[in-house]
Amino acid sequence: MLRFILALVLALPAFAADLDRAPVAFAYQNSKAVYVDFLSAEYNLTYDLSARTASVAAKIRFLAPEAGYPIFDLASNTVSNVTIGGAATSMQTLTSPDGASTMRTLGTAVTAGEHVMMLEVPLATLVAWDNGGVNSATWLSDLSDRGYLERYMPANMEFDRVAMTFNVKFVGATKKQIIYANGDVSLLADGRTQIRFPSYFTSSSLYFHTVPEGVMAETRFSFRSIDGRELPVVIYLKPGLLNPQAALATLKSETINILNELEGDYGPFLHPSVTIYNAGSGGMEYMGATMTSRSALGHELTHSYFARGMIPANGNAGWVDEAIASWRDEGYQRGGAFSGGANMAGRAEYIRYTDRQAYSYGEKFMRDLDSLFADKGGLKSLLREIVEKKAFQPFTTEDFISWAEGHYRVSLKQIFQQRVYRQALDGELKSKPAESVHHQKLTIEQLHELL
Ligand SMILES: [Zn+2]
Repeated sequence: MLRFILALVLALPAFAADLDRAPVAFAYQNSKAVYVDFLSAEYNLTYDLSARTASVAAKIRFLAPEAGYPIFDLASNTVSNVTIGGAATSMQTLTSPDGASTMRTLGTAVTAGEHVMMLEVPLATLVAWDNGGVNSATWLSDLSDRGYLERYMPANMEFDRVAMTFNVKFVGATKKQIIYANGDVSLLADGRTQIRFPSYFTSSSLYFHTVPEGVMAETRFSFRSIDGRELPVVIYLKPGLLNPQAALATLKSETINILNELEGDYGPFLHPSVTIYNAGSGGMEYMGATMTSRSALGHELTHSYFARGMIPANGNAGWVDEAIASWRDEGYQRGGAFSGGANMAGRAEYIRYTDRQAYSYGEKFMRDLDSLFADKGGLKSLLREIVEKKAFQPFTTEDFISWAEGHYRVSLKQIFQQRVYRQALDGELKSKPAESVHHQKLTIEQLHELL
């Protein structure tokens, strides 16, 4: 009994903490649309090689904190067999009150408490059929609305951590399929491959890429973390025009150098493994994984600490990790000319993607903070403490400010108000921000080329 109570006490704060960072419920259909807490999400992926079709059957258990229409998201309009508690229902589209985001709900309101939602959706985005095999990935983007897991399957918003499982079935495959993923991969008795992702993963965390055997050149080795763990690392690439063995050897030594540097600055690597796809262009971070160009490798691995370690809970918090990663890209400069403001944190309440001024103005703000606290260990001392104490706890910009205030023991609200909130628009920075060279936004068509 005591153990049961203890387990309950330990489990409750995690759920409560996630919903604390959820956007506010809003009026919908004479009732309310309510943000919910996903408790578990099982995704059954089936690739039918002869029919050249793929689909996902999802089973999601969630907790509604109050009665209303449960909010989730899924980009595809084509769904079937939608049920709630075993009863047929439909998927509906809704827009946030500020017009900043589009989401989904069900045709049926639910009571407060636990529910099970099921639905099926074709998997058509980033799927390329090869003779007897398939190339498929669930790559994400933080630079547009609805760019996370909801691109492919029903998912919650960034604030919510949930234990996710992929059960992957290849029907009629004549080639062995290789799976690159940042979860625990095992083979089930029925022949399916199961990937279990850690319970602190959110809709922006998971990496999944499958290709027929022999398509990629790869190197596997282990990295000895400063805490003594041997972390399995895989680096892979499409052979193309490169000399793949030489490219892999270079990437391996660069990866080891970068991981050593990051561990020296911020402590043990936060993830149990490292997966790197050198795609030649683009750059997107996942938990302990990245799809990247060689030049962006350091930037993207930094994101395993900031973005996919210290995780933003919403679009208004996404600037923090880009500003930090860009500050590292520029060699951690301290101080320098700095003025004006950029509204990176005070945009629409329901916005779900990162403001691109993070790479330029945000980077300069980090230099400025580093200079301001030079006599207190600079900005890195705060970042080290956040990594140590707040990893995997989705944060808002307001959390970041309060963590900084606690660390440096000064009030920082006024500085942040001036630099990163709406009022900052009166400042001088009004031009459209430039594309980041380290974090280039790729279209679905461009991503398709990299499968
Ligand atoms: Zn980035």
